[in-house]
Amino acid sequence: MHCDILISNGLVKTPASPNPAPEKPGFVIISNGKIIATGPMAELPGDLTAAKTIDAKGCLVMPGLINTHNHCAMTMFRGLADDLPLMTWLQEHIFPAEARFVSPEMVYWCTKLAAAEMILSGTTTVADGYFFEDDAARALKESGIRAIAAQGVIDFPAPGVPDPADNIRNSAQFLEKWQNDRLITPGVFCHSPYTCNAETIRKGKELARQSRCLFFIHVAETKTELAQSCRQHGVSPVRYLHQLGVLDEGTVCVHCVWLDAGDLELLRESGASVASCPKSNMKLASGIAPVDQLLEAGVVVGLGTDGCASNNNLDMFGEISCAAKLHKVHRLDPTILPAATVLAMATTGGASVLGLQGKTGELTAGKRADIIIIDLQKPHLTPMYDVNSTLVYTASGSDVKTSIIDGHLIMENQQLLTIELAEVLARVNGLARRIRSTP
Ligand SMILES: [Zn+2]
Repeated sequence: MHCDILISNGLVKTPASPNPAPEKPGFVIISNGKIIATGPMAELPGDLTAAKTIDAKGCLVMPGLINTHNHCAMTMFRGLADDLPLMTWLQEHIFPAEARFVSPEMVYWCTKLAAAEMILSGTTTVADGYFFEDDAARALKESGIRAIAAQGVIDFPAPGVPDPADNIRNSAQFLEKWQNDRLITPGVFCHSPYTCNAETIRKGKELARQSRCLFFIHVAETKTELAQSCRQHGVSPVRYLHQLGVLDEGTVCVHCVWLDAGDLELLRESGASVASCPKSNMKLASGIAPVDQLLEAGVVVGLGTDGCASNNNLDMFGEISCAAKLHKVHRLDPTILPAATVLAMATTGGASVLGLQGKTGELTAGKRADIIIIDLQKPHLTPMYDVNSTLVYTASGSDVKTSIIDGHLIMENQQLLTIELAEVLARVNGLARRIRSTP
């Protein structure tokens, strides 16, 4: 038997063995982009040969993390305008900066920068949404990361779409172009119920339905948005979207901070999923999403970093740790969102949010090989009694040593194999100099 990649001697975290014991190392066999088999070293087929063998002795082998919400190119605005309320931040800083500086070139290089940061910190799948999404998708594909790339739609002149009347046509062309790609799945991202009118939201969802792709929208992010929705539409943002007929299994509601019991019920009934971004919600002081209640109601919830301007990094380990602790202190209950639950949100839960549950999120035979290897030979990861606890409360993105996505080796021993990092840093720093020197 011959395979493409053999990972040997590692602690392999599988659904059957979520807390692998250090004295029982195992293997993962990968071929044609898929996981062929996992098991203890004692059961490794004797006749197996591999094009590439990775010795994972002293390491944890686990599914790659899934970031369900990002605006990758916003790495350009990391640290540009901090410590401001969401509406001031958006309207006085981010929207004007985007109007002046977003270009195909900027989206391409800044998305590559985001991909480098995500791969280095253990993310193997990301849901992106921005302008010039074709350039973002190209950067993500070249980086070798799995992605849902969703074209941004907004009701004012936007980068790449100067006339909002062309919004949906532009998105349709994007969807057409990226159908059937190995790594990139296209989608539609209507910015929010307050920046897209009812017709735009309906048409965006209709297009997503016809193309059988995901529809994303920021929903109920701030108290101001809730009040505005009640004033303008007489109902909450979630009820408003329900009335427009856009809540179903193919819709990802981002944030969902300000929900009442009726909103929770509508999300549950409709099958819409939620991308929760605790660090962004904390930084912009938007509030705390009722993630415990959403999970209890049976709503599928994943974690996202949101764009770099509101986080300000893309390390999903930080997001996991933050989610676990934020909800505990919010409810004054340390039993809320235990480590295993939060880690599931960043793996299997994230896969379900993005409609990829058949493909990725766990290490089982038949799934695509999206795998990260964590180096455990470090003071802060010693000793390890419970793998989930170590991953959620102690590990960070910099502990990730090696990454395999769709069966391809993307990073080995913390060296990116698909991205020329020095060039990306130079390009983004060049773009930042332009922003800095513009009054
Ligand atoms: Zn966002």
